[in-house]
Amino acid sequence: MAEPLRSVLIANRGEIALRVIRACKELGIRSVLAYSEGDANSLPVKLADQAVCIGPAQANASYRNSHAVLGAALAYKVDAIHPGYGFLSENADFAALCEAEGVGFIGPAAEVIRRMGDKIEAKKIARRAGVPTVPGSEGSIAEYREAVTVAGDVGYPLLIKAASGGGGRGMRVVEAAATLEKDLAEIMSEAEVAFGDPSVYIERYLTDIRHIEIQVISDGTTVLSLGERDCTAQRRNQKLVEESPSPALDAESRQGLADAAIALCREVGYRNAGTVEFVFDNVDRTYYFIEMNTRIQVEHPVTEMVTGIDLIKLQLQIAGGIPLGLTQDDIVIYGHAIECRINAEDPDNNFTPSPGTITNFRAPGGFGVRMDTHIETGYSIPPYYDSMIGKLICWGKDREEAIARTSRALDELVVAGIITTAPFHKEILETEKFTSGDFNTAFVAEFLSFVRKALIP
Ligand code: ADP
Ligand code: ADP
Ligand code: MG
Repeated sequence: MAEPLRSVLIANRGEIALRVIRACKELGIRSVLAYSEGDANSLPVKLADQAVCIGPAQANASYRNSHAVLGAALAYKVDAIHPGYGFLSENADFAALCEAEGVGFIGPAAEVIRRMGDKIEAKKIARRAGVPTVPGSEGSIAEYREAVTVAGDVGYPLLIKAASGGGGRGMRVVEAAATLEKDLAEIMSEAEVAFGDPSVYIERYLTDIRHIEIQVISDGTTVLSLGERDCTAQRRNQKLVEESPSPALDAESRQGLADAAIALCREVGYRNAGTVEFVFDNVDRTYYFIEMNTRIQVEHPVTEMVTGIDLIKLQLQIAGGIPLGLTQDDIVIYGHAIECRINAEDPDNNFTPSPGTITNFRAPGGFGVRMDTHIETGYSIPPYYDSMIGKLICWGKDREEAIARTSRALDELVVAGIITTAPFHKEILETEKFTSGDFNTAFVAEFLSFVRKALIP
């Protein structure tokens, strides 16, 4: 069974499609890109060995269309499908369909995706594995009276979360009992519309926290931690800047987080790359599991830069049934890496998307600079997908050098013709808060509403 993959269908777009194509090329794997009509002129289409149009620009008709993607995989006789992130990457039904058709799904088993994709179920599994979870409801909250009982235990403010939520969506803070009934009803119907699942649960709303996650990799036998990523710099529960190592952890909490992540993976029989997400309470310095992403993450390059390990290649290797061939001692964290997610959005206009044509693109360069992007001069950003146009990842021997390098690289970057968040990243990076390393998930919102408002008319 252990036979290297010979061909892979990439069921994604943008920078992650390019990232997977590049790994395939280096491994001598034939890459077949499944693309939508909206992406016909994109760089991944030009660089893949083969490309097949699977439908109209709207993601539901193409990138989210299981049958179109699987049909392309069968027609091009590929060994496996790489789903990237978003789209079908955490769709258990799709993974099961692939399994049934004899096409490899590059990720964990369908059943593991299903169990971990339900955040309520994932928290139960975490508790079973002895991993601390945020205080809150045991299971889903079906009606108001249950919510009242749970609220009595966890107190206010509390957070109602959709079991199937993701991408920072499907969450609502409830400040006081007066709005609980209304908030519960609203978030349930929102969740039904957005995720096709009205299930919600309640957590204590923690106000002085960092987001810290552990990158794991497993071949089904060996489970390794590749250290943490600190994704505390967020806007509306979405990550803006990620770094590794975390400036907040000491050796003991770092080890505790890694052990917890590995225990959870063992509990579910996890295979492939994955991320176990925690919130870390700055006050009592304890951590709580929040969710697991059973796929490659946007910010995976941060880990690659400090470990020297190519995570996509490991995913492809494991999917071919080839053991990791690494031990925990082989994982050595060296230096510091920072990633900025660059979006086609206008920070001066409440971050509204700004699609359009890029009249000039110049990537930054030099020692320790990596730019993962599919954009090029003349490229038109389609309005159908999310607004991330690339990621700038910089490595330095320490955090200070990584920040200085990122700042310098942001200066070099030219994306003309559209508005991007690149200059905003430089503002964030240069704040006293960010450079001190001492901040929490409210930092960007505070910067926007106090500091920036005062500076920019
Ligand atoms: P990461 O944890 O990799 O940083 P994000 O939460 O930013 O991931 O999500 C990665 C991509 O997947 C984004 O494009 C996001 O919009 C999308 N995404 C993640 N989960 C969902 C979901 N449940 N529904 C819709 N889109 C999602
Ligand atoms: P998603 O699936 O959208 O990524 P997560 O459960 O990972 O959702 O939460 C996203 C972010 O929301 C976290 O990184 C954190 O900043 C915030 N968050 C999640 N749970 C809590 C909580 N109980 N209290 C305060 N903030 C939270
Ligand atoms: Mg998350």
